[in-house]
Amino acid sequence: MSEGETDKMGATGGIAAGVETETDGSWARVCSKFKQEFGQQAYTTWLGQLGYNGLDGGTVELTAPTKFVRDWIQRNYGPRLMDFFHAEDKRVKSLSIRLAAKGAVPATPAQPVARTNGTQATGYQANGASKATQSYDDEQAALDPKYTFDSFVVGKSNELAYAAAKRIAESDEVSFNPLFLHGGVGLGKTHLMHAIAWEVKRRAPNKNVAYVSAEKFMFEFISAIRYKDTHAFKQKFRAADLLMVDDVQFIANKNSTQEEFFHTFNALIDNRCQLVITADRSPTDLEGIEDRIVSRLGWGLVADIHPTDYELRLGILQSKAEQVPGVDVPVEVLEFLAKRIISNVRELEGAMNRVMAYATLVGRPITMEMTRDVLQDLIRANDRKVTIDEIQRSVAEYYNLRLAEMLSQRRARVIARPRQVAMYLSKQLTARSLPEIGRKFGGRDHTTVMHAVRKIEDLVKSDSSLDEDITRLTRLLAG
Ligand code: ADP
Ligand code: MG
Repeated sequence: MSEGETDKMGATGGIAAGVETETDGSWARVCSKFKQEFGQQAYTTWLGQLGYNGLDGGTVELTAPTKFVRDWIQRNYGPRLMDFFHAEDKRVKSLSIRLAAKGAVPATPAQPVARTNGTQATGYQANGASKATQSYDDEQAALDPKYTFDSFVVGKSNELAYAAAKRIAESDEVSFNPLFLHGGVGLGKTHLMHAIAWEVKRRAPNKNVAYVSAEKFMFEFISAIRYKDTHAFKQKFRAADLLMVDDVQFIANKNSTQEEFFHTFNALIDNRCQLVITADRSPTDLEGIEDRIVSRLGWGLVADIHPTDYELRLGILQSKAEQVPGVDVPVEVLEFLAKRIISNVRELEGAMNRVMAYATLVGRPITMEMTRDVLQDLIRANDRKVTIDEIQRSVAEYYNLRLAEMLSQRRARVIARPRQVAMYLSKQLTARSLPEIGRKFGGRDHTTVMHAVRKIEDLVKSDSSLDEDITRLTRLLAG
């Protein structure tokens, strides 16, 4: 607590007594920013467990159900949470997360607290600690009903991942094990996983489908060790017919969790259970994960989701716009968004939702002017993101070429290929037209650029090292 403030509640004041409690919606906004940035899954697992007790002096008062949750959030999300709160209220100087009294319910849960399922006691609650794990039912409640195959828009960048996911959901045989989906944030990995789960549940309701984020897998594993109940933990996951683990990059360097993951994983594969795994990078790029795991991860099918192109972004926006009846989004607005918000689909959706929400609020139809107005900050951030110059510099550096060399007229493969990569990335990551890109590459014709784009699109299908180059460069540039 900061000194000098009128101390309304005394140093040990009770929860919410006399502090500014949630009346202005700032906690809800912080939660929604968190979801936007880290995804629904991380939200459900972590922030959604906290209670908000208001602002006391310059300190935001939160409560956590367990020490583990508190430490985890502080360590992994603390700085970003501070940013979010600070944006709400400039007076905020620090966060204080206290442990909730045993059995207490958060003062202002951001969402209803998941019910504990009495019939499926896992033993973790044995010593009165707060809910450390959830039953399958609760996990299924974590599946987003909006994330289905029907609502997934397919384009060149995600067609392989989509087809593989579909195949797994529709066939009774294990086709490839595991299916490893990877791609940058906000490109639809979680969406595809939920879609598989929904489809399998619809088609074969008796199948035991388990979906879990790697973060949560780890969290449950650590709790199981702490409460000496690793048996139930093993049983639970090994009973699955289909196990999906989202974002496995989280268990890199977490050795004991990795070990358990590996055993579960092997046991399941030996039982001919289907596994689906996602990560933000390819198996070979997963640093800090043991080689034997990496190599087994690559046994099945590895499908990557590339950054979206303009057409796909437009398709996604059109489909989302149709899902909201009664709100008319002009085509030029959709095109504008698809052109300007290129970072990822989550941000793209967020942008459209913001415009729609604003229009509904003020009761006026959506226009270009309104869109520009409402999205000023986002558009600027996306503008700042990548320029052709940056792309050229990064690509040249990546391939150890001099920039002038790459932009020269030389046709030697060692120079021409990186040049094509740079053109391809310029098309993918910026809103520049083909002629504009051509001009930036030493005054080349737009057909040359088009040829380069097609060439690279073609090559990545068979050349996995080029594919990795592209992924790395994209990550480097678009973050
Ligand atoms: P990831 O898990 O790869 O970070 P998500 O699956 O959470 O990304 O996707 C972020 C958001 O973008 C979700 O709301 C999802 O529905 C949407 N999205 C991503 N790709 C598509 C797509 N191809 N079609 C429709 N929506 C998509
Ligand atoms: Mg995800």
